[in-house]
Amino acid sequence: IVKMKGMNKYFGKLHVLKDIDLTVAKGEVVVIIGASGSGKSTLIRCVNGLEEFESGQLEVDGHPLAPKSGNPKSLADIRKEVGMVFQQFNLFPHLTVKKNIMLAPRKVKDASETIANATAERLLNRVGIASQADKYPSHLSGGQQQRVAIARALAMEPRLMLFDEPTSALDPEMIGEVLDVMRELAKEGMTMMVVTHEMGFAREVADRVIYIHEGQIVEQGKPDDVFDNPQNERTQAFLSRVL
Ligand code: ATP
Ligand code: MG
Repeated sequence: IVKMKGMNKYFGKLHVLKDIDLTVAKGEVVVIIGASGSGKSTLIRCVNGLEEFESGQLEVDGHPLAPKSGNPKSLADIRKEVGMVFQQFNLFPHLTVKKNIMLAPRKVKDASETIANATAERLLNRVGIASQADKYPSHLSGGQQQRVAIARALAMEPRLMLFDEPTSALDPEMIGEVLDVMRELAKEGMTMMVVTHEMGFAREVADRVIYIHEGQIVEQGKPDDVFDNPQNERTQAFLSRVL
């Protein structure tokens, strides 16, 4: 569903992504790990066109994205099909939880009020916070807000979900409830690209772990192989610091 070939990305003179080749299959869960500043966020932001890239090829669910965001039509299609969840929940503070979830289906998909409402209720149930539907985001815990953010992304019926450190801003006791929702999603067959420092989650849920060092994929494989028997010395050094 995602195909990257020879992708390069610069911020000014800084070469942030170097010749990235990466294919993600439908239903696959790929976890991306690496040190701060290695390019993890930039990589997944390229997938839904939040960042432009300078050279190489990128295709998402059959929609080609040229370097320098060459094709607006593809970009619009990709944004409809790809859900993203950030470290900061980015909920609309002036809308209730349920209205947050209804907004995109109403605006982008022209869903009726009734349909959007039913979808929101179903998704709130699914992420375990049906009782919070009519509250405002600021009245929810961080873990609850992040589950709303996931529900909001799911309301667009995405074909792919991107997560950029979804639990990094949470108090430790709330991390588990968000990871549980992500684990369920993975089980149901959602295609996911996840940047996280939760190595336990990566080991348990990922089909593949990718280690990025200074903008390059230097190692990837099944989680047990990467964690227990890393081949690259950079990966070894990184894992010895975080495990
Ligand atoms: P972290 O773990 O801290 O989130 P990361 O792996 O997600 O790091 P990126 O955010 O992708 O790293 O950043 C990669 C490099 O690009 C870093 O050197 C960063 O300073 C730089 N960078 C990121 N965004 C921009 C930007 N908008 N303008 C200029 N440089 C940027
Ligand atoms: Mg980042």
